[in-house]
Amino acid sequence: MFDGGLPRDEAAGNVTRRVFLFGAAAAILGAVVWRYSGSRRAVVKAAADNRRVNVAIVEFSGAGARQGVYSVPRIVKSDDEWRAQLGRGVYGITREGDTEFAFSGEYWDFEEDGLFRCVCCGTALFSSLAKFNSGTGWPSFFEPVAAQNIEKREDHSFGISRTEVSCRRCDAHLGHVFDDGPPPTGSRYCINSASLKFFKFS
Ligand code: FE
Repeated sequence: MFDGGLPRDEAAGNVTRRVFLFGAAAAILGAVVWRYSGSRRAVVKAAADNRRVNVAIVEFSGAGARQGVYSVPRIVKSDDEWRAQLGRGVYGITREGDTEFAFSGEYWDFEEDGLFRCVCCGTALFSSLAKFNSGTGWPSFFEPVAAQNIEKREDHSFGISRTEVSCRRCDAHLGHVFDDGPPPTGSRYCINSASLKFFKFS
């Protein structure tokens, strides 16, 4: 008649409540993940609807010298095309907004002099001249090579308010920017190595 000090009906009710609460928690987590990945897909789809839109991008020489501002077509590809070009891991980070594990990428502990370009479209994004060791395990920069070459947008995924950074020309997810960086800007661009491709100054 009694189970663990509780009447059987009450004990059964507790089990039902626990199952319900677990299910509710799983549903909420699923909704958050779905909403986040959905928001990235919505951005990609919006870009796909603007195939003829041009964007102003600052180009740089192999030596890292600023060449000027050029109006170039936005790079738009289908999910299948990006997946074939990038492979699953890089696709997940650049097109779906995933984050690589800290201390796992190619550039967090990398000190050569050169330009870091978008792995998806080749747009110049960051210079080694603005790179610093943040101790976070991700390559960190106090500024982009040109403000026009990146896009910032508010990101409220996972219940955290952050500012996402993406490539202006192809909308690749790069990482996030925080306001706890070093002088002269006080910014810390925390970027996935997988979103970047390094070119040594020539
Ligand atoms: Fe890009």
